Amino acid sequence: MEKWPITLTSTKKVKPDADRLGFGKYFTDHMLLMDYSAGQGWHDPRIVPYGPISLDPSAMVFHYGQEVFEGMKAYRTPQGELVLFRPDMNLRRLNQSCARIGIPQVDPEEVLEGISRLLLLEEEWMPEGEGNSMYIRPFIIATESGLGVRAAQEYRLIVILSPVGAYYPEGIHPVRIYVEDRYVRAVRGGTGEAKTSGNYAAGIKAQEDVKSLGFSQVLWLDGIEKRYIEEVGSMNVFFKIDGEVVTPELNGSILAGVTRDSVIRLLREWGVPVKERRISVTELFEAHQDGRLEEAFGTGTAAVISPIGSMKWDDHDIEIAGGETGELSAKLYDTLTGIQRGEREDSFGWRYSV
Ligand code: PMP
Repeated sequence: MEKWPITLTSTKKVKPDADRLGFGKYFTDHMLLMDYSAGQGWHDPRIVPYGPISLDPSAMVFHYGQEVFEGMKAYRTPQGELVLFRPDMNLRRLNQSCARIGIPQVDPEEVLEGISRLLLLEEEWMPEGEGNSMYIRPFIIATESGLGVRAAQEYRLIVILSPVGAYYPEGIHPVRIYVEDRYVRAVRGGTGEAKTSGNYAAGIKAQEDVKSLGFSQVLWLDGIEKRYIEEVGSMNVFFKIDGEVVTPELNGSILAGVTRDSVIRLLREWGVPVKERRISVTELFEAHQDGRLEEAFGTGTAAVISPIGSMKWDDHDIEIAGGETGELSAKLYDTLTGIQRGEREDSFGWRYSV
């Protein structure tokens, strides 16, 4: 029997316009499922028509939030090949998130094989057009019914695919950031380093508040002293101060981004000094005052590099790199997107052919 048996849909959907995709609005015709039960382990891997799933209202995910997810993208190279970017890191992180949330681990190779199978099945959904890609969302939910607070005994892994548009349809441009000093996203010892829904729920109110004030994201500070910089929106964050690049060290409350790791490795390869360390918001604003803060940018799968053009903290409102995209940010963006899309040499072996 084939490892991932496929049930084909009988009604294919109309595909969206490739120049109006946006993010996460359209989903392909099929999805991947696999179930877990305490007696059987992970079982029944399969690909089925995309559609609603039925769960008991008491399914534990609805009540205590046992959920983990991942996000990665597939690209079409100029040679027509379908490729993923460092999917091994996403699957390793999925298992690390599982470990933190009390969810049983998956076999990363098996899941990657299933994702590849699904991508090939949905190849005609792969959007044409510059900057477009296929977003892949694997997630695991606790499906057991019951209201006792404990680890569930039953789970479901689901993978859905969404053709998405370019993050910057008009080219990379800097964003305006608000330093969040009321709410926190995560605390050390909490779940910040896991990719689990609760972290995002915790961030939504702050994000909505600042959006209404004209900012695009918040800069998250540590949950204890509210002094040290952690992340920006749902991205990792980097600063170039006096020729050196710094990023907050992974301290337990920060998500270890795949893009973050790739940026650090590229910078080291280029001979740019880079340090993972604690950075206080005071240090950052002082560096700006002394004219030493040269660039700031977020990193993540969605935007790849998101330059920060201005930042507000308390009464201070600063402009960074003249509100433009800094030289290093632009170089990182071009290099990383070039590698991801198969337009540049992949000297690190980061591309994975589906
Ligand atoms: N931090 C958070 C909270 C995120 O959700 C993400 C997106 N996964 C990132 C950082 C960036 O991670 P990556 O580079 O792996 O997309």
